[in-house]
Amino acid sequence: MVDLTGQYQFIKEQVNSSISQVLDTAAFINGPEVHRFQEELEHYLGVKHVIPCANGTDALQIAMMGLGLKPGDEVITADFTFAATAEVIALLQLTPVLVDVEPDTFNIDPAAIENAITSKTKAIVPVHLFGQCANMDRIMEIAAKHELYVIEDNAQAIGADHTFANGKSQKAGTIGHIASTSFFPSKNLGCYGDGGAIFTNDDDLAHAIRGIVNHGMYVRYHHDVVGVNSRLDSIQAAVLRAKLPLLDEYNKKRRSAARAYSTAFEGIKDIIVPKTVKGCSTICENCDCHVFHQYTLRIINGKRDALVAHLNSKGIPCGVYYPIPLHRQKAYADERYKEANFPITNMLSEEVISLPMHTELDGEQITFITETVIQFIQTNE
Ligand SMILES: *Cc1c(COP(=O)(O)O)cnc(C)c1O
Repeated sequence: MVDLTGQYQFIKEQVNSSISQVLDTAAFINGPEVHRFQEELEHYLGVKHVIPCANGTDALQIAMMGLGLKPGDEVITADFTFAATAEVIALLQLTPVLVDVEPDTFNIDPAAIENAITSKTKAIVPVHLFGQCANMDRIMEIAAKHELYVIEDNAQAIGADHTFANGKSQKAGTIGHIASTSFFPSKNLGCYGDGGAIFTNDDDLAHAIRGIVNHGMYVRYHHDVVGVNSRLDSIQAAVLRAKLPLLDEYNKKRRSAARAYSTAFEGIKDIIVPKTVKGCSTICENCDCHVFHQYTLRIINGKRDALVAHLNSKGIPCGVYYPIPLHRQKAYADERYKEANFPITNMLSEEVISLPMHTELDGEQITFITETVIQFIQTNE
C-alpha cells in the first residue's frame, strides 16, 4: 500500500546526517530538533501552537484532557473512522456518540451531528478522513450555536486546505479549537517510528497542554494536574524536519496518482470514484483540497469482496478502511444505537476499497492496477 523504502532513497543522506547529529549530541529527549520541528510546523500550518507528543492517539486524548472534559460529557464523532477516535473518548470516561457520515466524502454528516446534540454534548470530533476536510463551515456553525468545542482529528489530512464558503482557505487542523495529528510512518507526514502533535491557536489551552504532556508539571516537580508522559523523541523530530519541506510535493504526487486512477475509472460501471469537495470538482494539480491519505473507491452491486480477493491473487495490495462500523464493534456498542441511524456507514463498510497510494507510484504501476480492476469488474457483470 505504501513504499517507504523507495521514498527514503531520495532523502537518505539528509535523514542519516540529521539522525547522526542527534546521536552525536545525545539530546534524545526534548532536544533542539524537537523545538525546531515544532516551530517549522507552526509556520507551515499557520497555527500559533504545535505541541509534539508520542503518537496520534495520545494527541487526541491530550486534546480532550486539555479542554477539561468531564466524565459523562458527550462527544460526537463519526461512526466511520479508525477506532482511536472513539477509544480515547471512552478511555477518559466521556461518552462517545457515534453518528453517520456522508456517502460522497465519507466525512461526518453535519445533519447527523445536529440530531445527536443533547444537553450533555460538549464537543464534536470531525475526522478529516482519507485526506479531505469534513464540512467545517457547517461544523463550526453548529458548534458556535450550541457552544461546543471542535477537536479536529487530522491524522489523515496534514497539509490539506479547507476552503470556506467565503473563499478563504485554512489548513486542516487549524480551524477548530484544537486538533491532533499522527506521524505514524504511513501517514502523509510520517516519521520512522511513532509520533504525533496537537495544534491550537489558543494560548491558555496550549499552556495547559504543555503541562499535561509532561506529567502535569508547569514548574519542575510541581504536579498541578494529572498528566501523562507523551513526547516526540529527537530522532523522530530530525526525520520530520527533513520531510516537512517535501510535504507539499508529496501531497501533489498523491493527488497526481489519484487523478490518474480516477481518469482511468471514469464511466466504468459499478465503480464510484472519490469526490473532492465544493470549489474543486476535479482533483487539482496545485490546490491542496484533498491530500489523498487513501484513494478509496466504492465498488457497488456486491462486488467488493470478490475484487479484494482478485487483487490479492494478483499481488496488488489493497485495503478495506473500515470493514466494521464503530457502532458494531464490541467495545463501542450501545443500546442507544439503531441500525437505521447508520445507513451510510453500513453501506460504505461493504463497498469501500483503498488502492495503493504513496509518493512513489509510477504510471506503469497505476496502469497495471487500474487495468486489473477494470477487467475484473467487466468480466463479472
Ligand atoms: C492513524 C490515526 C490515528 C492514530 O494515530 P497513531 O499515531 O497511530 O496513534 C487517529 N485517528 C485517525 C483517523 C488515524 O488515521
